[in-house]
Amino acid sequence: MFKLLKKSKSSRARLGRLKTIHGTIDTPVFMPIATRGAVKCLDPEELNNLKTQIILSNTYHLFIRPGRKIIKKAGGLHKFMNWSKPILTDSGGYQVFSLAKNRKIKDQGVEFRSEIDGQKILLTPKLAMEVQKDLGSDIAMVLDECVGYPVNYQKAELAVKRTTLWAKECKKLYFKNKKKQLFFGIIQGSIFPDLRLKSAKEITNIGFDGYAVGGLAVGEPIEKAYQMIKIIEPGLDKDKPRYLMGMGKPEQIVQAVKLGIDMFDCVIPTRNARHGLIYVNPKSEILNSKRIQNPGPQILNKKFYKEIHIINAKYKNDFRPLDSNCSCYTCQKFSRAYLRHLFISNECLGLRLASIHNLAFYLNLMENIRKMIKEGEL
Ligand SMILES: [Zn+2]
Repeated sequence: MFKLLKKSKSSRARLGRLKTIHGTIDTPVFMPIATRGAVKCLDPEELNNLKTQIILSNTYHLFIRPGRKIIKKAGGLHKFMNWSKPILTDSGGYQVFSLAKNRKIKDQGVEFRSEIDGQKILLTPKLAMEVQKDLGSDIAMVLDECVGYPVNYQKAELAVKRTTLWAKECKKLYFKNKKKQLFFGIIQGSIFPDLRLKSAKEITNIGFDGYAVGGLAVGEPIEKAYQMIKIIEPGLDKDKPRYLMGMGKPEQIVQAVKLGIDMFDCVIPTRNARHGLIYVNPKSEILNSKRIQNPGPQILNKKFYKEIHIINAKYKNDFRPLDSNCSCYTCQKFSRAYLRHLFISNECLGLRLASIHNLAFYLNLMENIRKMIKEGEL
């Protein structure tokens, strides 16, 4: 369960602690993404070395392959992938809406064809919950209807209606099945303030262990996303965690924390790493820069980080670490010149080392955020 430890005086930022079956999570927290039961290129030991508190896995992908039966037989997702810390699973809805071909949305659920064997599947709120129960995640998400952007009011309104309908169904089953797995409800409503408020009210009235803001980070202007969070935040239970799904860039995370969000996930650090896009402290770009002891308050500056393309020719003879301020394995042991060489030579070690560093950057950012809230600086 969630314990609110501190609230910032100058913003809506919160410091909290979330208790799950597989451990306690300090919030605000960032969850690396293990789409198919693996954080791409990294093994669980590397994730542990990075002090990863919780990872996110995608129900849709695991449901399609290898299937719930195999994971259940393995003793659940934790055992299957050898990860002993908390896991959050999404409901599968988002992927069905964004990836599946020939999908049909009905009041009962979403019908789609498996991309593996073409089999027709009806993903209902009940099935989404049963699959997540078999996976044995610490936090499960209810099935929701996520609309893209842009979307017209009528479609967004219908999605809010279905999301509430499905959330009610999930809640009924939740009480039958309750086995310490936490369940989060999802608030929809696209960028329409009245729909967001309606959805927030309906979902919180049903009552869940936490609340997610869904349907943002889907292409809308970022200011609209902030506006939606601002509008619904006062109506959310102070003693429940809030999770902003799928966002985002480092500065967006800082901003959303200041708006009262506790949990984040995003593919950005790992996906960008695999494309050689590295997050560094801007000061580490200055030649012969000294180690920066306390990078904390810098995140209040607009340009508190820089993205560098490691394959850039200027790194050919650059034997400094990626970030002189970073204590990750990659920065302790390897140079930019070597990383560049690995990327240019298509060596998979490059993908791994870059992923380690980018995740370290994100997880350090969260640690700094927590420290700053604690010290009243955010
Ligand atoms: Zn590093």
